[in-house]
Amino acid sequence: MNIVLMGLPGAGKGTQADRIVEKYEIPHISTGDMFRSAIQEGTELGLKAKQFMDEGALVPDEVTVGIVRERLSKQDCEQGVLLDGFPRTVAQAEALDEIMSGLGRKIDHVINIRVEHDELVKRLTGRRICKECGTSYHLVFNPPEQDGVCDKDGGELYQRADDNPETVNNRLEVNMKQSEPLLAYYGDKGVLTHIDGQQDIEVVFEDIDRLLRGN
Ligand code: AMP
Repeated sequence: MNIVLMGLPGAGKGTQADRIVEKYEIPHISTGDMFRSAIQEGTELGLKAKQFMDEGALVPDEVTVGIVRERLSKQDCEQGVLLDGFPRTVAQAEALDEIMSGLGRKIDHVINIRVEHDELVKRLTGRRICKECGTSYHLVFNPPEQDGVCDKDGGELYQRADDNPETVNNRLEVNMKQSEPLLAYYGDKGVLTHIDGQQDIEVVFEDIDRLLRGN
């Protein structure tokens, strides 16, 4: 099953993605994560992506589509994938359709997790992430037991460079503008489902799971 997970930054895509890939045993392909690890490793891709990410802007399509094309052709993607953070533009969606049809596959579901703007700002600016395992916390909604330390492995918690209040509003605005035509594109194709992301994490997952099971 090939799934695209949509939702503005802070909507809970990462949290739901973890649950979906565990249950459906498919790889989680997050372009944001791929860029962040490239930056950490200091690769050429990382250098290209960093300037755009620091500004909260989109990395150019030729770079982004290239890394997704390469990733989707790997063997572990044959039984399905969960795409998270890609596509972000109609041009990327068209490129994705072309890549998928070249592989004899198609996008089965596009899931859009919906959360109101003010709630997103609160969620993003309070978000902290473990340097070691990537687990997400929130200073108020989901704090670690000990300040600045991951409950799972004791790793140091950090704030993503693009989660600061100045960048957050720009990111939300860029993402909102970009996602509207994309939602229309997938709506027209009849593969789009909206899910209420302001419910409990478990309830959001139940809604997604019910959809994917076809009930
Ligand atoms: P995310 O982790 O999905 O919020 O992505 C973080 C940043 O990575 C974005 O603000 C963009 O700069 C870049 N990025 C991630 N996915 C894409 C994409 N599909 N197209 C362009 N830029 C992307």
